[in-house]
Amino acid sequence: NTESDDYVIDDELILKIFKPREDFTHKGIYGKSIIVGGSYGKIGAAVLATKSALKTGSGLTFVLAPKCGYEILQTSSPEAMFIEGGEKNINQIDEVENAVYGIGPGLGTEEKTEKTLLKFLGNHYSPVILDADALNIISKNENHLKSIPKNSVITPHPKEFERLFGNTENSFERLDLAKTIAKQLGIFIVLKDHHTQIIIPDGKVFYNITGNSGLAKGGSGDILTGIITSLLAQNYSSQEAAILGVWLHGKAADFAAEKNSKEAMQPTNVIDEIGNVFLDLN
Ligand code: AMP
Ligand code: MG
Repeated sequence: NTESDDYVIDDELILKIFKPREDFTHKGIYGKSIIVGGSYGKIGAAVLATKSALKTGSGLTFVLAPKCGYEILQTSSPEAMFIEGGEKNINQIDEVENAVYGIGPGLGTEEKTEKTLLKFLGNHYSPVILDADALNIISKNENHLKSIPKNSVITPHPKEFERLFGNTENSFERLDLAKTIAKQLGIFIVLKDHHTQIIIPDGKVFYNITGNSGLAKGGSGDILTGIITSLLAQNYSSQEAAILGVWLHGKAADFAAEKNSKEAMQPTNVIDEIGNVFLDLN
């Protein structure tokens, strides 16, 4: 646990990771993202994640949600393709070839959804993003942890982290536990907080310093899921997607706060600012 294992995510690191869009390209170059989420009463979470994946530049974007979200999703995100995964809850997850899966926003934790998710993960070998109810489902049984594909990115807030891995006394203990688990499972842990920490399998920790308390509202995390999914689909590595994604999310939130105040800003305003963050990067 030397100091040299800890890094602050600064502009220099971000510019090293960021790949500007090339001229002679087509949508096939920029990957396929698929958001899996939504349930009756929580379709909005899938809307936010889908819009964020689109705004972050994914070549093709899908959303797999229950039928009750069909009109809402097709209307709010006409750019995304809808795949039906059930009536009011998801009970089927189709494989879309070469797509990167961002699973969890508004998913619900119904037993049928649980079975469906575990079956999907058991047969899926490329990295996925797991958030929210996907993590709550995995929390139900310690054995479920083994079904997370290697190099996946999980994005728990402190409560979700505790549900997954048990209680810790303080944030230092939590970080230590996260390091052990990232190594054991070979996954990337995005420990969401005021200063989000990204823990990579070799034990290194990246601290994010963008973002503000205007994000302390329902829906903020769903945006991060969409952003990281989109970056992973665009051929960023899991590490790059997690670092760039968390930084971008916070930066967009800082822009949203400047225009709207921390109090009034909404997750939707954060999505609207993603473009301005890219304009600064380019
Ligand atoms: P969730 O709880 O899943 O909606 O995720 C909340 C998101 O907002 C995470 O990316 C957090 O890092 C961020 N967030 C929440 N509260 C704060 C805060 N007080 N300061 C900075 N970021 C925050
Ligand atoms: Mg959340």
